[in-house]
Amino acid sequence: MKFTRRTLLKFTGLGTVAIAMLPRVAFAARNTLRTVRTGIQPGNKTRLVIETGMRPSYSISYPTNQLVVTLSNTAANVALAPSLVAGSLVRAITQVQSGDKLQIIADLNYPINEIPRDDIMMLSPNGDNDYRLVMDFSAAAGAPVATAAASGGTSAKKSSGPSRKYVVVIDAGHGGKDPGCIGKGGTQEKVVVLSVAKKLKNKLDAAGFQTYLTRSNDTYLKLAQRASIGEKKHADLFLSLHANANPSRAMQGFSIYTLSEKASDEEAAKLADAENAADKIDVSGFEQFDKDIRIALSSLQQHAVAEMSVEYANGAASAFKRANIKQQPGPDVRHAPFAVLRSTVPGALIELGHLSNAAEEKLLKSSSHQDKLVAAIVKSVQAYNFDV
Ligand SMILES: [Zn+2]
Repeated sequence: MKFTRRTLLKFTGLGTVAIAMLPRVAFAARNTLRTVRTGIQPGNKTRLVIETGMRPSYSISYPTNQLVVTLSNTAANVALAPSLVAGSLVRAITQVQSGDKLQIIADLNYPINEIPRDDIMMLSPNGDNDYRLVMDFSAAAGAPVATAAASGGTSAKKSSGPSRKYVVVIDAGHGGKDPGCIGKGGTQEKVVVLSVAKKLKNKLDAAGFQTYLTRSNDTYLKLAQRASIGEKKHADLFLSLHANANPSRAMQGFSIYTLSEKASDEEAAKLADAENAADKIDVSGFEQFDKDIRIALSSLQQHAVAEMSVEYANGAASAFKRANIKQQPGPDVRHAPFAVLRSTVPGALIELGHLSNAAEEKLLKSSSHQDKLVAAIVKSVQAYNFDV
């Protein structure tokens, strides 16, 4: 479900003027706008704070005399009256709902330069506050209220693209005391997936993403710890890499999974049991984390995260098939209750192939095949619509 028309709400210091009413249609936006406020910081900087119910995916653009923050998958707040202080660079705030995207348009008294990354902060909830996107900026050099703090130089480029990189957390499954599955030739899942994860990080970094590994060496991490790294890094996408084993040594191919409470089929259920078993050794902490996540996510939000995950996973399956990587027979995307995917971050668990199959064990060990897998995953990430 989508908004069928653009919705414009304008706010000024004089109060709220609804230029168009919100349509009745509800849609599965996973995020909601709570408040918008401005303040003045030392050095005559203007501070803009956008508070949302969940950690937002956002981009920033700089049309003339405006600062536009586009929030992905966020619903406008009709009742919102932004709190604008006198003397800041912001003279009015407008919300524009376009499909699932919400644009917060700040009309400025003077032009500004692109805001340096250091002056943009994401704050996690504390006390009465939800997630806050905080930006500090001053008038560009030459403008009447220019300050010495203006950075970026005189040649700072105006940009209409996102100034924040999308964050991808790459989780190499297993590690340490948990080897994962082991091929007949002795190849360990934890070794293969770490190698692929490191290669993937290099390629995604080079492609302009901000990536983090849940583990960068042979260490054991609980599944909840892995998921919570996605939360802490404010990830836009979480990818958990694995390799499979099947009682039938003839079974080959990749498969891709997203989180659901119920497994989509018997095989998916068994796989989730096997992957979740990594924590059977040590379940402490998971139940609490699981509870926290359930509280953090309303059922509507859970639905939206699931939809985004499935969208990514479908794209990933296509990218793998286009790269002529053998697919395990069955649906493109399956679903199962994987503990590692239980978070507010959309994501997927990718079984790169079967270590239980002799030919595929050889492939999974080879650097060239790992490169092929990495190239397909990079394409899937580039094709993913982070803004939906
Ligand atoms: Zn695994």
